[in-house]
Amino acid sequence: MENKKRYYRKRVDFFRLLLKMKLWPSRKRILHGIKSMKIVGNQAIITTHCNETFTAYNSKNSRAARFLRNKWNYDPCRTCRVPSWKLEKYSSTRFSQSYGSDLAETMGRDNE
Ligand SMILES: [Zn+2]
Repeated sequence: MENKKRYYRKRVDFFRLLLKMKLWPSRKRILHGIKSMKIVGNQAIITTHCNETFTAYNSKNSRAARFLRNKWNYDPCRTCRVPSWKLEKYSSTRFSQSYGSDLAETMGRDNE
C-alpha cells in the first residue's frame, strides 16, 4: 500500500478528530493511544491504553489540538504500544484551511 496522504480541515471538530485518530499527545510530548472516549457536552473523558484517565475540552486551540495539527515532535508511549501503521497514518495526515474532510459525516455515529 502506498503511503496516502489524508487531509483534514484545520477547523475540524477536535473531538471528531480524536475519535478518528485515537491518539493523544501528553504535555511531555508523549503520544498515547486512546482506548476509550466518552463525550459529555463539551468535555470528553479519555482513557489511554496505558490506563490514564483525564478530561479534555473540545477546543481547536487547545495544546493537544495544536500539537496534532502542527506535528510537534513526540515520543510514542511505550506502554500504549501505538502500532507503527497508526503513527505512519498520523505523520501522513495534513491539515488545510480550504481542503479536506471536516469529518462531519461521522457526526452522531461515534458520540451518541
Ligand atoms: Zn500511553
